[in-house]
Amino acid sequence: MGCERCNGWMMPERRVGHSASDELVLGVSWRCVNCGNVLDSVIMQNRTVQVVPAAPTA
Ligand SMILES: [Zn+2]
Repeated sequence: MGCERCNGWMMPERRVGHSASDELVLGVSWRCVNCGNVLDSVIMQNRTVQVVPAAPTA
């Protein structure tokens, strides 16, 4: 898996946090050791949604 910015090496990181409703959130993010770009699983999900093209209205 390469960084989308610089194609550098991405290191997996476990993330533990709390959501707005104070639930425990576990996830994995990827950090580029070259430029520091972070890919988060939530970010990736959001991007997947955004990639879906809108249905034509005509
Ligand atoms: Zn990078």
